[in-house]
Amino acid sequence: MADSRPDIAAGRLAPVDYARNFGDVEPALDAKRALVESSRCFFCYDAPCIEACPTGIDIPSFIRKIATGNTRGAAVTILEENIFGGACARVCPTEVLCEQACVRNHSEDKPVDIGALQRYATDHLAERGEQPFRRAASTGKRVAVVGGGPAGLAAAHRLAMLGHAVTVYEAKPKLGGLNEYGIAAYKVPDEFAQAEVGFILSIGGIETRTGQALGRDMTLTELRKEYDAVFLGLGLAGVNALKAEGEDLAGVEDAVAYIARLRQARDKSALPVGRKVVVIGGGNTAIDIAVQSKRLGAEDVTIVYRRGPEEMGATHHEQEFAQMNGVKIKHWARPVRVIGRGGHVSEVEFEYTKLDAAGRLAGTGERFTLAADMLFKAIGQGFVPDPLKHDAQEPLELAGGRIRVNEDRATSLPGVFAGGDCVGGGTDLTVQAVEDGKRAAIAIDRYLKQRR
Ligand SMILES: Cc1cc2nc3c(=O)[nH]c(=O)nc-3n(C[C@H](O)[C@H](O)[C@H](O)COP(=O)(O)OP(=O)(O)OC[C@H]3O[C@@H](n4cnc5c(N)ncnc54)[C@H](O)[C@@H]3O)c2cc1C
Ligand code: SF4
Repeated sequence: MADSRPDIAAGRLAPVDYARNFGDVEPALDAKRALVESSRCFFCYDAPCIEACPTGIDIPSFIRKIATGNTRGAAVTILEENIFGGACARVCPTEVLCEQACVRNHSEDKPVDIGALQRYATDHLAERGEQPFRRAASTGKRVAVVGGGPAGLAAAHRLAMLGHAVTVYEAKPKLGGLNEYGIAAYKVPDEFAQAEVGFILSIGGIETRTGQALGRDMTLTELRKEYDAVFLGLGLAGVNALKAEGEDLAGVEDAVAYIARLRQARDKSALPVGRKVVVIGGGNTAIDIAVQSKRLGAEDVTIVYRRGPEEMGATHHEQEFAQMNGVKIKHWARPVRVIGRGGHVSEVEFEYTKLDAAGRLAGTGERFTLAADMLFKAIGQGFVPDPLKHDAQEPLELAGGRIRVNEDRATSLPGVFAGGDCVGGGTDLTVQAVEDGKRAAIAIDRYLKQRR
């Protein structure tokens, strides 16, 4: 009789393979290559790359500084607009942002490697352990920041620069948000995220309280009474359901939660992974869990997405990267049933999809199954408003299931601002969260000055 146990095991690879698979995916530029790459920039007037950067970094200016040997100055130019310039150099999908806009694409079919140059400059400053910004004289105002991810910490740093006293409340034991718990390990390896948090806090004037959750340890109403203003950078805590029969079987995992475990595991060889892995989704999370499963030693990894490659949230570059790592991507199919054996997933049944005459997604009625020892759900996350339920008398307005904000990232409540993934209308990228935090801090500063 065939063995019905799922094939899930830790330690599928040799120790040397783990070190290689979870080490830095992109080698850094050395000084010579940085000089050559910087000389490819035309230093365009009205540079389209600046327009395409959500944080508006003056890209030609920092590249010119690299070209003239002023690497520290280049880093300061970057960090003035984006205090997470080091992380963004590693995680930004530059191929659809600054590098897509680069005019070099027209003359040579290859943009200036802006991301690598940004990393070169910010790494240079990080190696010196220097905080280039100073705090303004104290304003005597106190601001609470809830959520220690890129949005919250970008807000905290700018508020500290402007002379306000900041307290960051973070539910998890470590600061950094998804930079620490979510982004693929090979993009931000080792202790990079914590080192960057340390750099940001080194400006001073920022008190941090980890293990403190809004809604559990304090309410928004209490924070509004105690502080002059509040910034919410809560991210997305909810995971969308597959809505397929059998979703509760053992071996069906939330991709984000598994990635968090993987990011925190000192010894990657201790993480059990299936021999056959199926991933459902089409965004960053789907690519990341698929590639990391493969890099943990899974033999057969397939992403299944309900629409075509153009509609995937993951860029072409990321899709190619997954395929280069041996991940198969199957388009135009959706899960209808998770099939179990002995209470554990063993197969997933899919239905092929297509667009109907009205352009809506519809099942074709044809089905197929894929064998699976593990099934990862990576079909998106949602904002969970529960931490705000104690403040029902004066509720924060939501729009499209996330916190409603205006251009200044001001919410419907006076003195309460919000940004990053928890607000509507964004792109759910690190760089956008950083821009939101920065903009909100500038608006909070204006708000506090008006109230003096
Ligand atoms: C798997 C994965 C991979 C990704 N890869 C990329 C990538 O390669 N490139 C990219 O640009 N973007 C990527 N993203 C998106 C990016 O990580 C987010 O857009 C970004 O982290 C949003 O920042 P944030 O500060 O809004 O939220 P988060 O980073 O989620 O931080 C929110 C913080 O708030 C805390 N918090 C939540 N609720 C409470 C509470 N009640 N009280 C106190 N604290 C609370 C959380 O613990 C967390 O630390 C990825 C996302 C995921 C899930
Ligand atoms: S668009 Fe390209 S060439 Fe022009 S300034 Fe930006 S990086 Fe340089």
